[in-house]
Amino acid sequence: MIVVIDGPAGSGKSSTARAVAEQLEIQFLDSGALYRVATLIYLKAEKNKELFFELLKEKKISFHFQEKKFSVLLNDTDVSNDIRTMQVSQHVSEVAAMPEVRAQVNALMHKVVEEGIYIADGRDLGTAVFPNAALKFFMVADIKTRAERRLAELQKKGDDTSLEEVMANIADRDEIDSSRSADPLKKADDAIEIDTSALSFEEQVSIICDQIKPLITS
Ligand code: C5P
Repeated sequence: MIVVIDGPAGSGKSSTARAVAEQLEIQFLDSGALYRVATLIYLKAEKNKELFFELLKEKKISFHFQEKKFSVLLNDTDVSNDIRTMQVSQHVSEVAAMPEVRAQVNALMHKVVEEGIYIADGRDLGTAVFPNAALKFFMVADIKTRAERRLAELQKKGDDTSLEEVMANIADRDEIDSSRSADPLKKADDAIEIDTSALSFEEQVSIICDQIKPLITS
């Protein structure tokens, strides 16, 4: 069974989905992290598309959720920290817009979620990847709130980026993610919209947990 949360960058999807997974003891899948690993390969290929597609075929991307931590691996090396830099954020939407990359990431996700109960977050999960998801949420928040959240995350890691830079990156990514032809960021017709601008983290987690609980206890 899979529950999905889609929404724009910084709307709180990943942290909320991770907390829901912990509370309900289900699996968490951060689909954006997989596009970020593909971006690491793209940067290694020095943005040479031909080389990038070759490397993408050769290298193994995998992930696991263990002890409350979602980790992504590239050829069995943990790259969970390497994918969170501004450099990766600046290129990830360009990489995620490539249909070849989307096909590979989607195939990996489908294979893994065949067994177990998952909550996954992304952009197109409810519309394109898992149209039959048991429950779909679409999280939104105003851009300043989203940028402040991302900045706090970056600062915790010692990155001294400015609020303006984070806001510009989020606006850029929203634009590319919403306007690309391959599976754009879009609310599914049957998704429940949650505006998190004025909600506390605990409130948004409990709204989602309350909806999922009856499905996993029945
Ligand atoms: O969730 P996060 O911000 O880490 O995602 C990074 C990028 O990956 C997004 O800006 C988007 O371009 C891409 N993405 C996507 N489809 C998904 C998840 C993420 O295109 N399902």
